[in-house]
Amino acid sequence: MQLLSSWLSGLSPTHRVLDLGCGTGSLRSHLAGLNVIGSDVDLRPLISNPDRLRVCAESHELPFSSESFDLVICHHSLEHFGNLTGSIREIRRVLKPMGRMFVSVPDGLSFSDRLYRCLFCGGGHVQCFSFDTVVSAIESGAVLHLEGWMELFSSFIYLNKQNFVAAPRGRSPGPLPRRMRWLGQLPRVCFDMARIGLNIGTRLIDLCLRTRLARYGWALAFGPAPSRPEFSPGSWNVCMSCGAGVDRVGKRVAWFFYRCPSCFSLNIVFQGVNRGNVASR
Ligand SMILES: [Zn+2]
Repeated sequence: MQLLSSWLSGLSPTHRVLDLGCGTGSLRSHLAGLNVIGSDVDLRPLISNPDRLRVCAESHELPFSSESFDLVICHHSLEHFGNLTGSIREIRRVLKPMGRMFVSVPDGLSFSDRLYRCLFCGGGHVQCFSFDTVVSAIESGAVLHLEGWMELFSSFIYLNKQNFVAAPRGRSPGPLPRRMRWLGQLPRVCFDMARIGLNIGTRLIDLCLRTRLARYGWALAFGPAPSRPEFSPGSWNVCMSCGAGVDRVGKRVAWFFYRCPSCFSLNIVFQGVNRGNVASR
């Protein structure tokens, strides 16, 4: 998102960034070199990112001084917060008066999020947002204003056999619900075929019927001053291995494929399909 890139380019290591609900660490390449503190209730996933400072805390009880951060990032974390009102109140408290906030959340009514909740028996998504509810919650609770937003599209990356197998073999802590245990017994090729089929199928249907089946949610940028929100169209090219979105595909492989710049895996090119840059909430 251009607005976020412009914000980050204005930050120096003296500025403080809070990665709230950080998981393995959000937006690693974008935040490299900045003073970022990751906060989560479970810091084990962040062990793979030793460069980032980390604090174990609930989002509604942050152990930081008031007005101590220039930017708060909630990257795919807000939908997991049980106490949403308390968490947003804490974000307002720790943000400096001219501080900013970047949020990415799933559209709770989208096909992608409904499928995720169904397969993973909720999958930890305890909040179900629409565009208006998430914007309203942040604007009123954190006293910020929407400055820009972008649609995010799904690569259905969660359809990975590893996510349906209990740790230590898989990623999910056990014991798993019966539905997930049953799905976890399917061969890996079933997950790969389903992921590829959904990527192609949802985008084809969207192209023909002008629906938004491939949409995952939104990236939203909030600042301290009222402004006319700037819309930027998201990319249909989302890596099926790491989830990285690519605005412009560089060199193609055999015309229909490209290599993800983040993980170098092979992906199908959807760029060039005219889906219309119409802002859709
Ligand atoms: Zn990738």
